Amino acid sequence: MSEMKKEVLNYIGGEWRAPVSGAGLEVLNPATGAVLAVSPEGGAADVKAAVEAAAGAFEEWRAVPPVERVQYLFRFKHLLEEHFEEIALLVTQENGKTLAEARGELRRGIENVEVACGIPTLMQGYNLEDVARGIDELMFRQPLGVVAVITPFNFPAMIPLWFLPYAIACGNTLVMKPSDRVPLALTRIAELLAETGLPAGVLNVVNGGKAAVDALLDHPAVQAISFVGSTPVARYIYARGSANGKRVQCQGGAKNHVLVMPDAEPETTTQIIADSAYGCAGQRCLAVSVAVTVGEARGWFRESITKAASGLKVGDGAAAGVQMGPVISQASRQRIESLITKGVEQGAQAAVDGRGAVVAGLGAGSFVGPTVLDGIPAGSDLAETEIFGPVLSLIHAADIDEALAIISKNSFGNASSIFTSSGAAARKFRNQSPTGNVGVNIGVAAPMAYFPFSGWKGSFLGVMHAQGRDAIEFYTDKKVVIERWPREWSRKF
Ligand code: NAD
Repeated sequence: MSEMKKEVLNYIGGEWRAPVSGAGLEVLNPATGAVLAVSPEGGAADVKAAVEAAAGAFEEWRAVPPVERVQYLFRFKHLLEEHFEEIALLVTQENGKTLAEARGELRRGIENVEVACGIPTLMQGYNLEDVARGIDELMFRQPLGVVAVITPFNFPAMIPLWFLPYAIACGNTLVMKPSDRVPLALTRIAELLAETGLPAGVLNVVNGGKAAVDALLDHPAVQAISFVGSTPVARYIYARGSANGKRVQCQGGAKNHVLVMPDAEPETTTQIIADSAYGCAGQRCLAVSVAVTVGEARGWFRESITKAASGLKVGDGAAAGVQMGPVISQASRQRIESLITKGVEQGAQAAVDGRGAVVAGLGAGSFVGPTVLDGIPAGSDLAETEIFGPVLSLIHAADIDEALAIISKNSFGNASSIFTSSGAAARKFRNQSPTGNVGVNIGVAAPMAYFPFSGWKGSFLGVMHAQGRDAIEFYTDKKVVIERWPREWSRKF
């Protein structure tokens, strides 16, 4: 596999430009430690140029008929398919996940492009004749103007695509700020979108970190902010963006629970939960991180998940046969290992211990092995902390009510699942579990592109979620027109 070091540029007003601020961050391959690229630490001046380019393109873009706007997305979808393997490999190289996982995320991203191609129908308003005698009322959806999207490291291709297609299909112009740790996939995606002939300024990309985000939050021309990342940053962005009068949607961190009921089918249940906990090295906002075993499930599940976790092949995600890649960085590896240590100090037993994992030939890689922490005290601070690594904690509950109470106490509400063969237990869980995404015999309860990517409590701030109809609602405002056209005011016809 060739790994070429390149300089990441910003995309502003249809041109690829070096950042004004200059300094850069190294983008590393977390499996090998190799430097893949240098990403610019763009700041206020770069953001100002990008927002001005977007603002300058807005009036013309919003006047392009929706049915013509989506022609760019149809071409974009074809280019993404044509370059599918190339983008998937970039995701694996910069993020570390396996190629199969990278392909999976790109597929889910492309589905959002497909859904946004329906904008001529999806963006329609509604109307009623004769709300009073001779008076009609109509509701149109109109784009907001310049919107900004700030994304995390864990899905370098998919998460930008949760927003980009809808924002521009609705007639907005856009400034994207990817994670400074994984700028390569979005750079390639932006190059492909540019190839469709999309007018200059409709999509802009500024690379950077906090300085770039702050400039977006404070720029008066930015009408709306979409954010995905950790909960502390989500809270900060929500507060500062809202205080500046912007429309804000912030998807935050997670601590997802799965209930393993005594009547769950052991083999499939274990397989699916292992995939959820250790897939993408646990760095999925929908990864299961706590398994609550109910009643007699405790014994068999502990044994089977221990076996499944111990058997996973860890290595470079680009290599054949590897089932779990590295975590994003050495800093992340150290943080995860210290949380495992803390769990053990708080009384848990490391039934499988991934600390100090070594992969032959990849000494500079950021590897943590699959870990099972049995017996984390339900109320401990570790039970509440998002580990964001390949660590599954086991907690025991006597019955479904006690298990639901454990989920309810948690401050996050991204996703939860139940494994059972009882319809009654599944129905009770679906109805009562306080999370925005719920799985029944599903390990990663990820909504399809035409459903909202929900999330509750500390996992989401805002009203409208990403994807589907929520995205269209978020990226448009409603204009209500009330019309009277008396016959006697018109020339005779
Ligand atoms: P992060 O919060 O560190 O970074 C997210 C974005 O915010 C990046 O673009 C980053 O450059 C920027 N940023 C970071 N610190 C900032 C600061 N102090 N001020 C302003 N901007 C800042 O998140 P991450 O580590 O890249 O991603 C992992 C997190 O994202 C996890 O908590 C995970 O659960 C969450 N996540 C949530 C969802 C969801 O749908 N709820 C999806 C994916 C990831």
